[in-house]
Amino acid sequence: MASYDVIVIGSGPGGYVAAIRCAQLGLRTACVEGRERLGGTCLNVGCIPSKALLHASHQLHEAQHNFEKMGLKVGAPKVDWKAMLAYKDETIATNTKGVEFLFKKNKIDWLKGWGSIPQAGKVRVGDETHEAKHIIIATGSEASGLPGVEIDEKTVVTSTGALELGKIPKKMAVIGGGVIGLELGSVYARLGTEVTVIEYLDHITPGMDGEVQKSFQRILKKQGLSFVMGAAVQSVETLKTKAKVHYKLRKDDSDATLDADVVLVSTGRRPFTEGLGLDKLGVETTERGQVKTDAHWQTNVEGVYAIGDAIAGPMLAHKAEDEGMAVAEVIAGKAGHVNYGVIPSVIYTHPEVAAVGETEETLKEAGRAYKAGKFMFMGNGRAKANFAADGFVKILADKETDRILGAHIVGPSAGDLIHEICVAMEFGASAEDLALTCHAHPTYSEAVREAALACGDGPIHA
Ligand code: FAD
Repeated sequence: MASYDVIVIGSGPGGYVAAIRCAQLGLRTACVEGRERLGGTCLNVGCIPSKALLHASHQLHEAQHNFEKMGLKVGAPKVDWKAMLAYKDETIATNTKGVEFLFKKNKIDWLKGWGSIPQAGKVRVGDETHEAKHIIIATGSEASGLPGVEIDEKTVVTSTGALELGKIPKKMAVIGGGVIGLELGSVYARLGTEVTVIEYLDHITPGMDGEVQKSFQRILKKQGLSFVMGAAVQSVETLKTKAKVHYKLRKDDSDATLDADVVLVSTGRRPFTEGLGLDKLGVETTERGQVKTDAHWQTNVEGVYAIGDAIAGPMLAHKAEDEGMAVAEVIAGKAGHVNYGVIPSVIYTHPEVAAVGETEETLKEAGRAYKAGKFMFMGNGRAKANFAADGFVKILADKETDRILGAHIVGPSAGDLIHEICVAMEFGASAEDLALTCHAHPTYSEAVREAALACGDGPIHA
């Protein structure tokens, strides 16, 4: 048995960041992880492997569609799927080993195994019970599945199975048009799979700006993805190595089916807190299984905190990381803070989609007067040169004060461009502040400035 200031349960982006910050602040820290590798969902079966496959498949797309246009003759590219998966696995390994290195550097003990909390101040891992003044639950989430649909991770898969399919399927049905489904759907579409997305709602990417949803869906259609909208999946029948998706169209209640070699169920994720013993400990959870916390990430049991996907809020790695840093600071007696109004969200397709703050829909609902400045990437020289001129930047600013309230980007490197606007929002900047900032030419960032100009006297290149 060992005694610690802090034991973190779970080593995802929430947990490992919390552990590192605790150690940096002088607290004796351990982190419990049941997986064989550190890094959680994000590094092992989430953000990192999916981005590796998105990168590889995008390079294929470039070679197939754009190389010749630039005078590059390399012949028809071939896909070695096993090698592509090996590249993805190597990417995971270097990242998870990186976290292991950081743990050693910061003298954090990795307690290997699944942890539970028999009582406040104690964490049990295997046969050992450790003492901790503070316990942070950072146990993350799992795929939530769908009633009537049995997952075998071979023919009917979650994102985890979709990251390691035995071969590239001819036909794939993606149930759920959210971020994970569209990213992985894009990967396979680029690899030659016929991908059909079946979505319950009438639009994809729920919660995103309406104009972005429409434009993004149009772009994905152009890339070869098909969509069945307003469809409620009833069941999935598996027939040896194939599957049949049964769904009802909501507009007329008619029944339909779709055959596929692989069905990806990407209908969302739910908090994972199994085996922690929360009920016995008396930790309150919501109806959706999220651990309830106060504004300082403390649960109703003193000394027990929770962060990341296990609690309310967007299920994003960087939100978990921010909470990890903030809770460590709270525990160390400092003022930890997360600004939930400025958390960007990104879809790493090509083009990328990125958003922060309010949408036109939320502003209208709140009755807030706003102006929208928009600039199309067609007017951006760099984007045109790089065959990446699909999409736009839209900045939403308060009608009276010009303060930036939100931004939405569909376009090249949108996931990087959005941070300029995040920083501006953190500093309470106006659209004019952005518009008056000199932006290097030729960059994609100029499109952000042009959108800011469009909130005032108008953009130059439109
Ligand atoms: P997790 O990363 O889920 O980590 C929790 C860890 O706790 C796990 O390793 C688990 O084994 C461990 N654990 C659980 N219970 C116990 C226990 N009792 N004892 C010991 N260990 C335990 N987010 C983004 O921001 N950007 C992206 O591009 C992105 N892409 C994604 C792609 C996919 C396919 C998926 C599935 C998710 C993606 N996400 C992305 C979401 C992101 O992965 C999560 O938001 C993030 O991992 C949450 O971090 P966390 O620390 O809360 O939990």
